[in-house]
Amino acid sequence: MIPFLNLKRENERYASETKEAVSRVVDSGWYIRGRENNYFEADFASYCGVGYCVGVGNGLDALRLILMGYMQLGKIKEGDEVILPANTFIATALAVTQSGLTPVPADCDIGSYNIDPVSVKEKITGKTRAVIAVHLYGQVAAMDELREITDQHSLLLIEDAAQAHGAIYNGRRAGSVGDAAAFSFYPVKNLGSLGDAGAVTTNDEELAGIIRALSNYGSDEKYIHKYKGLNSRLDELQAAILSVKLGYIDEDNALRREIARFYMENIKNDFFILPEVKGWDSHVFHLFVIRCQERARVQQYLSDNGIQTQIHYPHAIHRQQAYAELSHLSLPVAEQLQDEVLSLPLYPSLTKEELNKIVDTLNNYGTI
Ligand SMILES: *Cc1c(COP(=O)(O)O)cnc(C)c1O
Repeated sequence: MIPFLNLKRENERYASETKEAVSRVVDSGWYIRGRENNYFEADFASYCGVGYCVGVGNGLDALRLILMGYMQLGKIKEGDEVILPANTFIATALAVTQSGLTPVPADCDIGSYNIDPVSVKEKITGKTRAVIAVHLYGQVAAMDELREITDQHSLLLIEDAAQAHGAIYNGRRAGSVGDAAAFSFYPVKNLGSLGDAGAVTTNDEELAGIIRALSNYGSDEKYIHKYKGLNSRLDELQAAILSVKLGYIDEDNALRREIARFYMENIKNDFFILPEVKGWDSHVFHLFVIRCQERARVQQYLSDNGIQTQIHYPHAIHRQQAYAELSHLSLPVAEQLQDEVLSLPLYPSLTKEELNKIVDTLNNYGTI
């Protein structure tokens, strides 16, 4: 069986270095927000090309903290609307509702799967304060078009970069294109820790300071609490491991692109529609997602032939039970995608042999 993702094999590639990093932390006697956190924050900020990085507990909190930070700055207030893509991981929407804001899903582009700027424009009301652009599957959203719209309406443009570590959009890294960006380092992400972890990146010094305090019980100074904050800090173990893996992210993303290119050039079967790659630099292929009509049959066929696939995501936000209040909405492209998308295995340690088998199996679908 070719697993959808083989995390053990992925992490074995850096095992000696990560084990060394872990021992260093064990021996240090300091376990949350210490030297390792400071090193990683500085390195990740410089990697993304921003002034500030704040290490936090996970990607969901990174998004929540950005919204909470803007609320403290008076740029967003309770009940305001935030536009986000209808086809995203649930965390994007949860961050909005958990901050007392109203999520407004927009439709997406059928080719790139990313949020459609035309739909964003249609969703703007007098209460809209921000747009969250998700760089879905690793491809940076249409940020220039989105920026034009957000500038016109004085809206904040926030990146959910949880799937796009290292992507370069018109010369700028994901995480430096919007007003602020949220990253997740959940183990399966392109830059994955060995536990939960996340970060916020921004060039806004004041926002970064507020987020740092908000993530530490609203405090900059022990037992002095300026805000009603969260406990969402990056621990030293994860920071030390992330520093090791940050050294390999460009190499790993290059391997992901090679695999994606192989799929793009070699999958030749009218049953499958391949993704639209807007630019090879701006896509880091967190996932390789194709579309097909008979998805359940295709998935069963692949499984019968030893290939594990997944679906990202089987329900658009407004089709999730948790968001029943949005179920009256009609977002035709997102609804089509939820029924047609299928994610193939794509990770740096995938072998040429495995890749050939996946492509051959796909190309044989429908012929027997
Ligand atoms: C993974 C992910 C998140 C959430 O990150 P966690 O670290 O799991 O909280 C948010 N948005 C997107 C698009 C993601 O893929």
